[in-house]
Amino acid sequence: MTLFDAGSEIGGQFNLAKRIPGKEEFYETLRYYRKMIDVHHIALRLNTRVDAAMLKQEGFDEVIVATGIEPRTPELEGIHHPKVVSYIDVIQGRKPVGKRVAIMGAGGIGFDVAELISHEGKSGALDIDVFAREWGIDFKNHPRGGVTGVVPQVAASDRTVYLMQRKTDPLGKTLGRTTGWTHRMVLNRRGVRMINGVEYLKVDDAGLHTRINNEPQLFEVDTVIVCAGQTPLRSLYDELQAAGVKATLVGGAFEAAELDAKRAINQASTLAAAV
Ligand SMILES: Cc1cc2nc3c(=O)[nH]c(=O)nc-3n(C[C@H](O)[C@H](O)[C@H](O)COP(=O)(O)OP(=O)(O)OC[C@H]3O[C@@H](n4cnc5c(N)ncnc54)[C@H](O)[C@@H]3O)c2cc1C
Repeated sequence: MTLFDAGSEIGGQFNLAKRIPGKEEFYETLRYYRKMIDVHHIALRLNTRVDAAMLKQEGFDEVIVATGIEPRTPELEGIHHPKVVSYIDVIQGRKPVGKRVAIMGAGGIGFDVAELISHEGKSGALDIDVFAREWGIDFKNHPRGGVTGVVPQVAASDRTVYLMQRKTDPLGKTLGRTTGWTHRMVLNRRGVRMINGVEYLKVDDAGLHTRINNEPQLFEVDTVIVCAGQTPLRSLYDELQAAGVKATLVGGAFEAAELDAKRAINQASTLAAAV
């Protein structure tokens, strides 16, 4: 079995997710899979972007296509303005983020980006004292329910962040049932402003122009971060189909609607076991 990746490391989007404060455990997930590749003697070919001709020439009997996604770019006047950046550039630290920021799109990635850019200091996932302070937990005196009753201390952000969505639903409705409320609460405590029912009109030097409740509203921001969803990246799969090579889609390339690595890993493992 051979595993190809165009990137210099395994993991695809998990390499973005692991940089979000609170998701540091994904480093361990990646370390585990990297080790398993050696344990099971899988030939790993990194920095290798494959195409159908190459796979056909090498004579593989089956190809599992896990090429992931492409970020969706909304059609909007000013979308190529220098103040508009993609979540990938922000998470990878390739583009600077100003003090006043609008995030377009409040799905899982929008929330993660809000967390990243409003976060100050150590991550509570890496330091138990920070975690205890953030949630008002007293680990020493064991008061009733473990909580001290004092107001949790969350390090304030020096950025003004607007997290926006077009839908009129409350923000964060699609986040995990057991953890979604914690993300909303933390961002609220840091002063991130959550706005629904936003119609995006254009971006220009003045900022992000919108219409909310039929009223024009300008957000005078320095940076607009686009988190407007993802579409499956299937060009390799389509090429393979055309070349008559047996191929199966898994993960984000199969369905990009939600952030769901569990489904991607399950699909790939089930398929690999059956091949
Ligand atoms: C910020 C962020 C946070 C997330 N948080 C979570 C979370 O908390 N929980 C969760 O379940 N999911 C989360 N996700 C989603 C999760 O990362 C994805 O569901 C998962 O990575 C999908 O895996 P995949 O293998 O389908 O595709 P991807 O991870 O997108 O990987 C695709 C890989 O294919 C490679 N590739 C593409 N074309 C070629 C080619 N022609 N040749 C060779 N290689 C190629 C790419 O280099 C890439 O490494 C998050 C994603 C992001 C961006």
